[in-house]
Amino acid sequence: MFDKVLIANRGEIALRIHRACHEMGIQTVAVHSTADANAMHVRLADESVCIGPPQASQSYLNMAAIISAATITGANAVHPGYGFLSENAKFAEMVEDHGLTFIGPTPEHIRMMGDKIVAKQTAEQLGLPLVPGSSGAVSSVAEVKALAAKIGFPVLIKAVAGGGGRGMKGIASADQAEEAFNLAQAEAKAAFGNDSLYLEKYLGHPRHIEIQVLADNHGNVVHLGERDCSLQRRHQKVLEEAPSPALNESQRRRIGGQVTAAMRKLGYRGVGTVEFLFQDGEFYFIEMNTRLQVEHPVTEAITRLDLVREQIRVATGAPLGLVQDDIVLRGHAIECRINAENAETFVPCPGRITDYHPPGGLGVRVDSALYSGYTMPPYYDSMVAKLVVSGTSRNECLMRLRRSLEEYVIGGIDTTIPLHQKLIAHPDFIDGNYDINWLERFVGLKT
Ligand code: ADP
Repeated sequence: MFDKVLIANRGEIALRIHRACHEMGIQTVAVHSTADANAMHVRLADESVCIGPPQASQSYLNMAAIISAATITGANAVHPGYGFLSENAKFAEMVEDHGLTFIGPTPEHIRMMGDKIVAKQTAEQLGLPLVPGSSGAVSSVAEVKALAAKIGFPVLIKAVAGGGGRGMKGIASADQAEEAFNLAQAEAKAAFGNDSLYLEKYLGHPRHIEIQVLADNHGNVVHLGERDCSLQRRHQKVLEEAPSPALNESQRRRIGGQVTAAMRKLGYRGVGTVEFLFQDGEFYFIEMNTRLQVEHPVTEAITRLDLVREQIRVATGAPLGLVQDDIVLRGHAIECRINAENAETFVPCPGRITDYHPPGGLGVRVDSALYSGYTMPPYYDSMVAKLVVSGTSRNECLMRLRRSLEEYVIGGIDTTIPLHQKLIAHPDFIDGNYDINWLERFVGLKT
């Protein structure tokens, strides 16, 4: 087992990892920018190292500074969390080259899944169903038009280096192709430094269903069921639930079995999430995330497993302590991502937290690094808390969620709590009747 783990992240996920480490008797090292000197993840860690100025590019993305921090503090392993360097194959390699353990998959698998075209080709070889589209990159407007005519409009062009929906544009007809192609190319170039694009059939009313997997270094793979992350705004998840209200037991077993077999064939290790669109009873692979996801707590709630502990155990080389039959999905869980944003305009509003009172009670979990008197720096993601409620049924979960949102006090800044309150009161949500376009229609972005 490791004695000391460096956590290469900030905010709620740094705390989440710290908690798992401390339960396992592992010491933690926090890293932080100058803007985060008073952050909760720094306060809770056993040691901390300042790694640079506020801009993430010079601190949380500064690989050399993070590796130096691990070396000087004598850490044995690095946990990257999500975002930042979590899907950076070069960083994983650097960590290993310095004799430390990267708590995650191999650099080879990170690289493979980080390139959307290679990821799709791999998924196809592994027997997973794909969205119809280009087999490689599309390099001209003419090529987009020709392919779209073949598979049928509407289509979507997406960035090969994609993430967070950036560089993604819909094309309803041939006359929109040129503008969309140029816009997507510019956006992809700005966001990823890579303007390579690919094309997919645009599915009109899918749900976003993702399968959580857990694998060790010895060929053992299990899946932990699905999460439904269809409620999105600008391709960003807002609320997630498990199990999905849209899947039946046979669909769940079918896709879970396919993903498990695929991951075993790939020789994958660690936690990972295979994402699909699901429409009219069919699944279509879109991407794989080779890291812990923001929404992992809903899976923890229905499986009663600690995914970070499992990640750390697997990273030490230990075999999984369970087989598929040991995994029983119980009850229901919902996560609300609470952002420091105006609930109507979505304008970010970082600032000083004057009052803080999180909800509690049976089936309520709050993952957040906020505290009363904390001043949120403006440089990072606006997500400030995850409220995760669980219950024996979806109905119980909804009642608990409503009362927890009522109880939650975050004073001094605007948050998206009112959006969640409105959303969970809507009959479509109560019925579980929504697709990936539902939320944008609800907040008035689409008609
Ligand atoms: P990124 O890596 O940029 O997040 P994804 O491929 O994961 O890109 O897609 C993000 C979101 O975009 C999906 O959850 C879904 O809402 C939407 N999307 C992606 N591909 C399609 C498609 N072919 N048809 C319709 N919507 C899609």
